[in-house]
Amino acid sequence: MNFLEERIVKDGVVKPGNVLKVDSFLNHQMDISLLNEIGREFHRRFADCPITKVLTIEASGIAIAYPVASEFGVPLVFAKKSKSINIDGEMYVAEVESFTHKNKNQVVVSRRFLGPEDHVLIIDDFLANGCALQGLISIVEAAGATVEGLGIAIEKGFQIGGRVIRNLGYRLESLAIVDAMDDETGTITFRPQDERPGPRQPDRNQVETR
Ligand code: 5GP
Repeated sequence: MNFLEERIVKDGVVKPGNVLKVDSFLNHQMDISLLNEIGREFHRRFADCPITKVLTIEASGIAIAYPVASEFGVPLVFAKKSKSINIDGEMYVAEVESFTHKNKNQVVVSRRFLGPEDHVLIIDDFLANGCALQGLISIVEAAGATVEGLGIAIEKGFQIGGRVIRNLGYRLESLAIVDAMDDETGTITFRPQDERPGPRQPDRNQVETR
């Protein structure tokens, strides 16, 4: 297991409704040294790309994207959720349905902060059905910029988002891919990843979290 999978096993909680709670280290209380390690790992994985901007979506994407932008030495732009229908033409707009809150939000990015010269790395904390990523991709494309890749901390591989994004031809890297989880037993099964550094330990891919 890699560092993030180990932490998920130690502190993640499987909830009913296919929700993995990681609020003790990733998206409520934040473990800064873990976030910095995530930043270094995405920098290593996308080192061959000429990244000029990192793009994420508020709120919980920001914490993951910050150390990534810091490693690349580029600005971080986050899409803002906006209730206003009064968008004034200064903004790129996408509609995103929230997996956790089940509501729809318009998300906006100012035209001042993305343009055709940009090579963008899109970052988010979770990938479920892929609505958030598709919204961010559509904003980058509306700007005429290039999507160099997408980096996700935790992909839930049993939901369709990862397949959809990869089938569209994008380079998607997820640090942990959960292939199955059971809220009754707390069992989490990770997808083995060949590109993972260090020795593989396939017999430890299925782990009880409690
Ligand atoms: P998607 O748009 O891919 O359906 O969902 C991605 C978004 O929903 C992420 O930005 C994340 O905030 C939230 N999300 C999806 N699944 C989970 C989950 O299992 N746990 C948590 N904490 N957030 C999730």
